[in-house]
Amino acid sequence: MTGPDAPLAVMKPCFGPQEAEAVAEVLASGWVAQGPRVSAFEAAFAERVGARHAVAVSSCTAGLHLALTASGIGPGDEVIVPSLSFIASANAVRHAGASVRFADVDPITQNLTVATVDAARTPATTAVMVVHQAGMPAELDALGRYCADAGLLLVEDAACALGSTYRGRSIGGHGNTAVFSLHPRKVITTGEGGMITTDDADLARRLERLRQHGMSIGAAERHAAAQPMIEQYLEVGFNFRLSDIAAAVGLVQLGRLDEIVSHRRALAARYGARLADVASVRAPQDPPGGTTNFQGYLVELMDGFPLSRDEVLRRMAERRISLRRGIMASHLEPAYAGHPGVALPVTERLTARCVILPLHHELSDADVDRVVGELAACSSERSGTLRATA
Ligand SMILES: *Cc1c(COP(=O)(O)O)cnc(C)c1O
Repeated sequence: MTGPDAPLAVMKPCFGPQEAEAVAEVLASGWVAQGPRVSAFEAAFAERVGARHAVAVSSCTAGLHLALTASGIGPGDEVIVPSLSFIASANAVRHAGASVRFADVDPITQNLTVATVDAARTPATTAVMVVHQAGMPAELDALGRYCADAGLLLVEDAACALGSTYRGRSIGGHGNTAVFSLHPRKVITTGEGGMITTDDADLARRLERLRQHGMSIGAAERHAAAQPMIEQYLEVGFNFRLSDIAAAVGLVQLGRLDEIVSHRRALAARYGARLADVASVRAPQDPPGGTTNFQGYLVELMDGFPLSRDEVLRRMAERRISLRRGIMASHLEPAYAGHPGVALPVTERLTARCVILPLHHELSDADVDRVVGELAACSSERSGTLRATA
């Protein structure tokens, strides 16, 4: 449905007939669990982001858990995580048995910085999980130097950042362990799924083993062997595998990544130009040294904006435009109630004031103008006087 009043979704997966054909081929082959397509997807993903190894997993959350565990982070370790993130970032730390130490974020990029990490660090801190929020690349150079000097592990929650760059390299290509999500809310999707990238061959081998029950040999090796092979279980592992059905979709989607990201960036540029005329709204921009994939087009309602975030969400929904609140603050959720940590004033302000505007491949320039027009109408309200809907 199109037209001036058609409902606008905040996000939509971008599938074509090729994905359906790829799935049909897998089904016809009879090999649907982790197998040759997962291997091919891993190789293509590693090459695309510029990492030596990629290990496919069932979700980004499982991947973060595995990355921490395989790096030796567990009970007794404390991991610095931004509270301003999808709750899975903090949960993965807990799944690994480590404790969470929340840190605040930069008011513009909404990412951890050396200053916010340093303010939260304690003698028990052994790792930092940096999140590239909504695709916005974090300052990896400064954080990498800080962590190296302090002897801390740096892991990237790159759930939203496939196709974003920092200092001319793709996120995932900076030598750290990085974990991506392939959930439908992200730029490319396999339904559910995740990918871990690393330059460390030993770590990659351990990740492969841990994702499949700690098994010494993979199904493909056993299948290819002339003689029966009896596997061993070297440590207590998990079932965090991706299926070949999902990987076949992922291979097609990965091939379209550049096109998807450049389209998102073009729409974002139009949003940016139009929003410049809307009072008290701050639009997102590429950070110094980086480019974002605009996986989430996150705008901040500044002081002086007459409506609250929730009033804006409601008003836009009445106009059939689906917005989402900005990034959640994990420390405000019951699951992390009473969690010790530093004050998080920037996190609390951003989570209360940000909204995500619709951005997906089916959105037209006219749709962008319609969204901005409605937001401008909200912005020119006098506080407390909601106009009757036209
Ligand atoms: C989506 C998301 C996750 C979780 O990804 P799943 O693949 O659904 O497990 C983790 N961290 C961040 C920052 C996310 O946006």
